[in-house]
Amino acid sequence: MAQGAREAYFVGAPLNRASWLRGSHAFLNTAVTSADARFLLLSRGNPLVHATDERRKSLVFATWAEVKEAVLATAQPQSESLFGPEAYGLVPKDAADRAYAACTNGLLSPNLSLAFLGIESHGTSSNKQVPQGTPYFALSLLYKRAGMDSTPLEALLAQLTQSYDVLDMRLAVAIGALTPRDAAYVGGARSIIDWNERFQHCAACGALQYSAAAGYKRVCLRALQACATGEAFFERFGLPRLSGTECLSGRTLQNYAYPRTDLVVIVGIVSADTKRILLGRKRGWPAGYYSCIAGFVEQGESFEEAARREAWEETGLEIGTVMYQWHLMVGMFAYATSPDEELQLDLDDELEEAFFATKAQVAQVLRYVRREGEPLYRHGHKLIVPGRRAMAHALLAHSAVRASRSAWKGPFFVPFPNLQQALKNNTPIRTNARSCTILPNFVGLKFLVHNGKHHLPVTITEEMVGHKLGEFAVTRKKFSYRLTKNK
Ligand SMILES: [Zn+2]
Repeated sequence: MAQGAREAYFVGAPLNRASWLRGSHAFLNTAVTSADARFLLLSRGNPLVHATDERRKSLVFATWAEVKEAVLATAQPQSESLFGPEAYGLVPKDAADRAYAACTNGLLSPNLSLAFLGIESHGTSSNKQVPQGTPYFALSLLYKRAGMDSTPLEALLAQLTQSYDVLDMRLAVAIGALTPRDAAYVGGARSIIDWNERFQHCAACGALQYSAAAGYKRVCLRALQACATGEAFFERFGLPRLSGTECLSGRTLQNYAYPRTDLVVIVGIVSADTKRILLGRKRGWPAGYYSCIAGFVEQGESFEEAARREAWEETGLEIGTVMYQWHLMVGMFAYATSPDEELQLDLDDELEEAFFATKAQVAQVLRYVRREGEPLYRHGHKLIVPGRRAMAHALLAHSAVRASRSAWKGPFFVPFPNLQQALKNNTPIRTNARSCTILPNFVGLKFLVHNGKHHLPVTITEEMVGHKLGEFAVTRKKFSYRLTKNK
């Protein structure tokens, strides 16, 4: 499957993440206060966008001058520096303690949810260590540490929304409101800020956590108190005195919290005759809305195993060969191997309905959702599938295109009985059907294919799927050149 067949959405921001600089206070403090710095502003995960003119619905990137006052008043550092322990009056208990650096590199005020996104470079920089360009940050305007009242950043949001809009991301995805470039910035910013806002407390002991590594790590307050002193810090933020030994984070393994990426698979399940693709709808989805089968990858599970499990749990179908497509949300194709195609939806009871749609039906629905054709009706509702930006759309589009090609050519199938038996016993299947198309469930089988003269052995591998059996049993000797002693 072609790489880049689909325009990736929510990834691909042109940023050097410069992750090695997330612990450098000198760099971070210079970057955040520079006139070049740009701040992507979020209100509960939804970005601020321009409200009028040709920039309507494009992201607002604020300058330091615009956010400085409210950021400093919320963060309450001792100076105008935002990052690092010195900014908040912290000092190590023991200067040689490496735990102190681990707890405080890239440390931020516990009042702030801010993350360094990276540097957009302009041309090539001679210094790889410190890339030149525009530093980007994501800033939450509504973050409130547990027990905190309203913040100056909240007041800033109220002021900004007089001239800007807050774009609801669910709506934005549905109507494709963001350009791929803006979506890439929001994708990263929204995830890292959301994680910082949700993981306020230590998973081991429940104490407050604060942000380090410029927003990419969260640390238990007990871990900090075990290696640092600084009355100014603890009193300023009203942080209680805790015993470091009461948290697993302070002993044994240093289990700092890191941002999570939840892997999801989505699989376009093609019927065994390769002519139809499975669609399902979840309870509660809008009427007529269908998509491919999807789910989270579980622990100790490969992508293929997750695809097989989800297919089984949601529809009772067994699938064979799994083929990959794209990244992050792992899109896959698989062929159903359950002989009767009998769907069973009450295993995990997640789907309300599922059915194999013919490729002609898929093509019609895709044309309709792209506003290029007439709707198809199912149970009295217009059948809808996810829009252009969604992985499911890409999977369906791919299957529909492939279908029209193979339908044109007219694939030829031979019903070989006892395929399972042959596979199990490793017995070859003798055939003269050279023009039979190789199906996915042939993979692993041995054939003896007639070449006009003899039966030649052919073992089917995944790469052969879609080709004809005869292509692998050549009718005459291939041209070869042999170096002889005479010439
Ligand atoms: Zn803890």
